[in-house]
Amino acid sequence: MISGVRLIIIGRQGAGKGTQCQRMSRHYVVPHISTGDMLRAAVREGTELGQMAKQVIESGRLVGDEIMIELVRTRLDQEDARGRGYILDGFPRTVTQAEALDGITAELPIDAVIDLDVPRDLVLARISARRVCRDCGTNYTASGRERHPWTCDLCGGDVVQRDDDSEESVNRRLDLYETQTAPLLEYYGSRGRLTVVDGTASPDAVFQRLTTAIESARRAR
Ligand code: AMP
Repeated sequence: MISGVRLIIIGRQGAGKGTQCQRMSRHYVVPHISTGDMLRAAVREGTELGQMAKQVIESGRLVGDEIMIELVRTRLDQEDARGRGYILDGFPRTVTQAEALDGITAELPIDAVIDLDVPRDLVLARISARRVCRDCGTNYTASGRERHPWTCDLCGGDVVQRDDDSEESVNRRLDLYETQTAPLLEYYGSRGRLTVVDGTASPDAVFQRLTTAIESARRAR
């Protein structure tokens, strides 16, 4: 049986993280922990966290570090994550979150930090075609030839454009990425912990590159 993995994946929105994380989650049999999905679930459920996060997400800003750190600390402490590991997607987003994560994972350290690299103009084109199942979160790409209403192949839920995928919101998030999250690459890079994977190829080719990169990062540890 393939061993588990503890992985951080960084990359611009629309770099293909969602798709690749789903595949890696099946391959390594570990949960795909997406802080964006966790927050959107909280919004749907109308929890206290969801009510607070709703406007922040819609405007493309970031939820506060303290709240996010506690959310991730609690999730990584659950049995599945402690046992086989996890793929952490969307966290850390800031250097403060990265420093906190080093503390949280001191006992069970991260195997690899991957930057899934796709240039900004390419991700903008991808995001404008991105659709997601409102119920199970499966990703789709619009070709313009879909039947409406569009329903999910897996669960029958509505396939929609995410509220935060409007052009204005996407541009703001990409700007935020450059100013706030890019320092993470410096944080992990300067410590020799970052592996850059070119995300511009086909999904199969990118998946192959990712698993190869993870194995070599593991051997180097
Ligand atoms: P994502 O699906 O990763 O693009 O996340 C959607 C939105 O959730 C982001 O634009 C932020 O508003 C919020 N979010 C997700 N993860 C974090 C995080 N680690 N720190 C702060 N805000 C976050």
